[in-house]
Formats: sequence, structure tokens, C-alpha cells
Amino acid sequence: MKRKEIILNCTRVNHQYMRLPAGKVAGLEAMTDLYRRIASQSVDCAQAWVQDSPCPDHEPATDAFWWGVVAWSDAFGLSMGVDMAEWSWLFVGPHHEFANYLRPGIPPPPLEEVNDSPANVILTLDATWTELVIKLTAQWGFLHHLKDSGAIVEAQSLQGELRTPGSPAYKAFLESDLNFFRHLFKHFPFSEQTRKYITAWLKRAEEGL
Ligand SMILES: [Zn+2]
Repeated sequence: MKRKEIILNCTRVNHQYMRLPAGKVAGLEAMTDLYRRIASQSVDCAQAWVQDSPCPDHEPATDAFWWGVVAWSDAFGLSMGVDMAEWSWLFVGPHHEFANYLRPGIPPPPLEEVNDSPANVILTLDATWTELVIKLTAQWGFLHHLKDSGAIVEAQSLQGELRTPGSPAYKAFLESDLNFFRHLFKHFPFSEQTRKYITAWLKRAEEGL
């Protein structure tokens, strides 16, 4: 499958996923609304990208979201310990190309690699990714997103909870992240070896090892 179509599928998985998880965590209603908007715009923009059309209107937070994913994806591969040549080519690359279609520019520095248990890697990178998305959203769309100040406050408090193993947000996000990753990674043509490695790594995260 072509790289653009893979990303279109990712935006669809993301769109479905955004409808599910945060609803389980009380106090994230405004953030969930903003994420749903981002997820829906992402599908529209990815569809246009596949058709080589100009990017439809979308909000600055959508740019921030995907440039955040680029920074996250590099750190996630390093933290899992996968073959980085393969990971960069098959996973980071297409995300980078999509982010560059949404908002051409220089990527933010990658997030820092996390050396910890798989569960803590996932949640720590969720927290630092959230932090970066807030920062880029403020930088690129401060006025546009003033109406989302409630969402920003919620996202900021979420970061603290994601860094606290055993908190209700930690458990709910770990569960939905694992679900999401399993769906997401299916779309990428990883080698058999990498696929097995990722599956085993996610299993350890699920078992809290
Ligand atoms: Zn667009």
C-alpha cells in the first residue's frame, strides 16, 4: 500500500479511537471535543492528500497534533528499541510527509527517549507529546484557540496524571493506547521480526512488566 494511503488509514483509526477513550476519564470533556475536531479534520486533509489536492482548511491544533506525532514517533521507536532504520523509513517518514503537507516547516526536536518499563514509556511519551502539542498550538494558533482554553487546562492537568502510575487516567489511557497501537501498527508494512518485537513489547506493557 502507498504511504499516503497508510496515513489516511491512520487518521481513520485515530478518528475512531478519539470517539472512545477520554470519555472514560472525568474532567476531559473540552479536550475530548477539541481532539474530535482534530481527528475529523485530519481525515479530511489526508483524503485530499491522497488525491494530490490542496490541503482543506483546518485548525492550527491539527498541525500541532501531527508535528507532535512526528516528534513522538522518533522517541517511541528509540524507547521500544526497534530497528531505527526500518522504523524511520516506514513509520516516522510518512507521518513527517503528512505533517509537512498540513503545515510545511522544520520539525520540532524529537521527544526524549524514555528508558523505563513499556507501560511507563507509553504514558510518559503521551505526557510529553501532550505538552508539545499544547506548546505548538499556542505558538501557531493562540488567538484561534482562545476558545479552547478549557481544553488546554484539561490537557495540562492530564499530563501530571499520566506521569502517575496507577492513577485513573494512567490506567484508562494505557488500556486505550494499547488498543489503538494494535490497530495502528497493523497498517504499516513492518518486517516480520519488527512486528513480532512490537507485539511482544505491547504485551509487556499490558502485563505491567
Ligand atoms: Zn488541511
